[in-house]
Amino acid sequence: MAPAYTIKGTTTDVTNCEHCPRRGLRKTVVLVPLDADGNEFGEPVHYGTSCAARALAVTTHEITRAARAADLHQRIAARAALRDAARLGLDKIRTHRHRLQARLDAGTATDTGAGALAFVTALGVAHWAPERQDAVNAELRAAHAAGGFTALLAAAGRHEAATARVAALDPAEL
Ligand SMILES: [Zn+2]
Repeated sequence: MAPAYTIKGTTTDVTNCEHCPRRGLRKTVVLVPLDADGNEFGEPVHYGTSCAARALAVTTHEITRAARAADLHQRIAARAALRDAARLGLDKIRTHRHRLQARLDAGTATDTGAGALAFVTALGVAHWAPERQDAVNAELRAAHAAGGFTALLAAAGRHEAATARVAALDPAEL
């Protein structure tokens, strides 16, 4: 019996068909083998559209359509994950910003480098986009160096607003 596959989408990272000698394809279809119970198992394989169609015993048109649907599904899932991470981050950013604001209002905030650094670190930990964390930390530190806690709070407010926009996005709206 021919192996069964599920279509995970397409990729431009692999441009060689792993089934035939075709090289330099624009993109390949990512297929994951299924076991007898229909569960995914093993490593994904990358086939050109024609080979994928033969492997699944369907037309190339059906492969293209299914791959497009899978790609869309993946993009929506990725955006939903980003939105959820931003929501989580937003709660923490708000908490830390309010905490600093309360200390400023109460006159108990001592504008020392250590206090600011602790605040920046707390925000950094809360940050929802790890690849941007260093940049956000640098921005917050620079704001504090230039204008103390007041400037730090303003920068945190901008950071919070940007996070809120991502937290509110509709994953299906591409
Ligand atoms: Zn092929």
